[in-house]
Amino acid sequence: FLSVEEGQTRVLVPAENDAKIPTASVSVFYNPEMEMNRDINVAVTSVFVRRLAERKGFEKSNIRYLDAFSASGIRGLRIANEVGISVVLNDIKPEAVELIQKNIFEIGLQNAVAVCEDANVLLCREKFAIVDIDPFGTPSPFLDAAAMSATFLLGVTATDTAPLCGAHLKSGIRKYAAVPLNNEFHSEMGLRILLGSIARETAKFDKGILPLLSHATRHYVRVYAEILHGAGRADQTLQNIGFLAWCPACQNRETKTGLAVFMNEKCVCGSNRKIAGPLWLGPLRDELFCADVIDELDNGRLTLNKKEPARKLVEACKNEADIPFFYDEHLFCEELKISAPPIEPFLERLRDAGYVATRTHFSGTSFKTDAPVDEIKRKLLE
Ligand code: SAM
Repeated sequence: FLSVEEGQTRVLVPAENDAKIPTASVSVFYNPEMEMNRDINVAVTSVFVRRLAERKGFEKSNIRYLDAFSASGIRGLRIANEVGISVVLNDIKPEAVELIQKNIFEIGLQNAVAVCEDANVLLCREKFAIVDIDPFGTPSPFLDAAAMSATFLLGVTATDTAPLCGAHLKSGIRKYAAVPLNNEFHSEMGLRILLGSIARETAKFDKGILPLLSHATRHYVRVYAEILHGAGRADQTLQNIGFLAWCPACQNRETKTGLAVFMNEKCVCGSNRKIAGPLWLGPLRDELFCADVIDELDNGRLTLNKKEPARKLVEACKNEADIPFFYDEHLFCEELKISAPPIEPFLERLRDAGYVATRTHFSGTSFKTDAPVDEIKRKLLE
């Protein structure tokens, strides 16, 4: 075994995970590349648990967290050890569960148990305050049961970015019952296709969602969605679902909420537009929640190895405008045949002209604005 430490938790993982890129075929999977994802998960869960305690009077020991795809257990063990709530760690592989049990014993946790089930069976049988699903590839076969089980918070990781982002179109349609677009904003497309799918899955159970934090980072997307109860909240949530019409020729975009909408395939410029959806058009995060997570990262309560990149990411998510789909500065500059100007002063010029204009967490060259495309180009040329 290798002994690895993340946050304040030391766990054993199989030595075969020493390889740079771990594969699904190792006996028990551990991916060091996901440490920041798990660091953010600890901070988000810590803030969410405090809210549950303050708003609903819950004791930590009564809040149950399911790590439905545990592998070595690192994710759930960290929650048990660093947040202090009750954690159930599950994996379908007996050798993973054996290792989790060893890790629970080594850390000396009284608030964690390991079980060996198909995640869907466990999710259908029991309810958990917080459900975390982190499977290999697509979460789609587990979203229905996860949506049924989660009472307060649902965390979903998806690593099937090619289907989500439109690179594997047919697979994306099969998995998410939605049509994605593979263009310069494909990373945001993936996040919004996943969120749309989660919203539709939870609505079946008369639950709505409020995305507290969602991010697309390298080869995965991650969503933290608060669960809202009642048919009314589910109906309100579905009002955030809709379609996008995008023109590859002039970059114009139009969004329409609703499931029964008509979008003209002809753009104002005369070219044919492409239509994507149904997808999430609402906010990707809750600004106040993100501010609390940043505060949690700053206040020194948590010891995290990836604190700085985690903070930077959450801050970028918090400050990003609530506008569906970013633009890429470099694409405009290629078209205008100019070298890319520094992005901040350019955004400042848009803001001075009365538009919303912010950077995004998706990439260093991306920005969001409500300015029309012609205006964006004028400001780039100024
Ligand atoms: N959450 C882990 C972490 O942060 O290190 C990584 C989980 S790994 C990506 C996916 C795990 O899901 C594997 O250990 C695999 O054995 C397990 N798994 C696959 N199908 C499953 C199923 N249907 N039910 C439960 N576990 C399953």
